[in-house]
Amino acid sequence: MYETETEFARTLVAEACTLTRRVQEEIVANADSLTKGDRSPVTLADLTVQTVMGHRLAKRYPGDAFLAEEESSSLAASPSMAEKVGALVRSVAPELDGDSIAAALDRGGHPGGSEGRHWVLDPVDGTKGFLRGQQYAIALALVDGGNVVVGALGCPNLPAPGERGNGDGWIFHATDSAGAWATPVAGGDAAPAMVDSVNDSSRAIVCESVEAAHAAHSVQAGIARRLGITTEPYRIDSQCKYAVLARGEASIYLRLPRDESYREKVWDHAAGAIVIEEAGGRVSDLDGNPLDFSKGRRLATGRGIVATNGLLHERVLEACREELETQP
Ligand code: AMP
Ligand code: MG
Repeated sequence: MYETETEFARTLVAEACTLTRRVQEEIVANADSLTKGDRSPVTLADLTVQTVMGHRLAKRYPGDAFLAEEESSSLAASPSMAEKVGALVRSVAPELDGDSIAAALDRGGHPGGSEGRHWVLDPVDGTKGFLRGQQYAIALALVDGGNVVVGALGCPNLPAPGERGNGDGWIFHATDSAGAWATPVAGGDAAPAMVDSVNDSSRAIVCESVEAAHAAHSVQAGIARRLGITTEPYRIDSQCKYAVLARGEASIYLRLPRDESYREKVWDHAAGAIVIEEAGGRVSDLDGNPLDFSKGRRLATGRGIVATNGLLHERVLEACREELETQP
């Protein structure tokens, strides 16, 4: 089931990898003229990807809803941005004009939930990494009856397996009960993606956010110590963390909140979660419950997210509980 949806999602993500790379190359080329804190390149990339995907999904699956991060109000607020988005969108979808761009974007306003089918999109996940010229992801998932059944995760700068830093990019895709796969952005055969088989926690590599505002690095360091880990964490932006776990380059992904009132957004985890599970790993909240994508545009849990190769999961949850007990 869902094979055609998976292939379609993979194609959309591949197109988005190419589009966002063009924008990111311009950032690098224009580094001098961009002021620090200028988010216009990521806004251009986000809005363009969401427009093109919203449009293509509506044509192919008109009965499916769409839940995505951006809104057309950001275009209405900036005519110069609207013009840039229009030009980039029309380079791949010449049939779209201003009104149909706004309509395609705003299809993404679905509230989520447990009824029927909806596609979930983070057009550019890891915007900080994108602006630094580093890692980011394009994350598309299909939720059916509240469960994630398809995920396509584009990691346009991910290097070859075993390497760090920027590379030529990989796309991961997963379908419920049919495994996870990785394909180079440049094309070629899909190879199975599988988590590692580390079951001695002291040998595990932990991956975590680069941004200290997105995860409690010091608490996570305490958890790693309890697990006997002495290797530095692998810091990488975006759902690329799920990707490196899914191909066995790290065994644990910790995302403990800095602020427990923050509720994680479904588009930040849906595609990554199915890729991990289909690669043989496990993802849960701190109580060990699977992430619940049926509650709306955000997850209900506020205590944190843990993903592992599966073998280490209970041990890691225990270390999280022990460490949190010592926190004020
Ligand atoms: P990462 O690249 O893994 O650090 O996470 C990027 C994602 O973090 C973005 O897509 C945001 O939606 C999300 N984010 C923003 N603020 C927070 C926060 N305070 N805590 C956790 N995640 C956040
Ligand atoms: Mg995001």
